[in-house]
Amino acid sequence: MDYKFAYDNKDYLLTNENCEGLFFEDDNEIVGLSLDLILNALNEGEDVAFSNEYYSGKCSCNTQDEVNKSYRYLEYHFYIYTKNKEYVINTIENEYKATSFNKLFNAGKIDDSYIVIVTACPNCGVYSISVEQCTV
Ligand SMILES: [Zn+2]
Repeated sequence: MDYKFAYDNKDYLLTNENCEGLFFEDDNEIVGLSLDLILNALNEGEDVAFSNEYYSGKCSCNTQDEVNKSYRYLEYHFYIYTKNKEYVINTIENEYKATSFNKLFNAGKIDDSYIVIVTACPNCGVYSISVEQCTV
């Protein structure tokens, strides 16, 4: 599964090959959450739009310009919900349109929420994904 998007007239392709990693906060891995699942969710999402974010770390391609001691990246985030640390649903897939966090939570189908942050280098297109616990 690949995900393609355009930003500033430049095409980016997120694949298995140019992903630097899927990083879980405190190594708290979520069962069933894979890179393919995330790329698939991005494809299914209708309002996916990357925007500029700035971080102090420079990409290994070493081509970003320094802006106030930080470097520009393209970023997009969405949320996933889990039960007993197992993946259940994400907030950009079609199935989620008919429900909500509260509905799923009250029905006992989910018990936790995480933010999934996709960060790509605007120059070389290498990207990484971090998953952090996040209260809805
Ligand atoms: Zn780069």
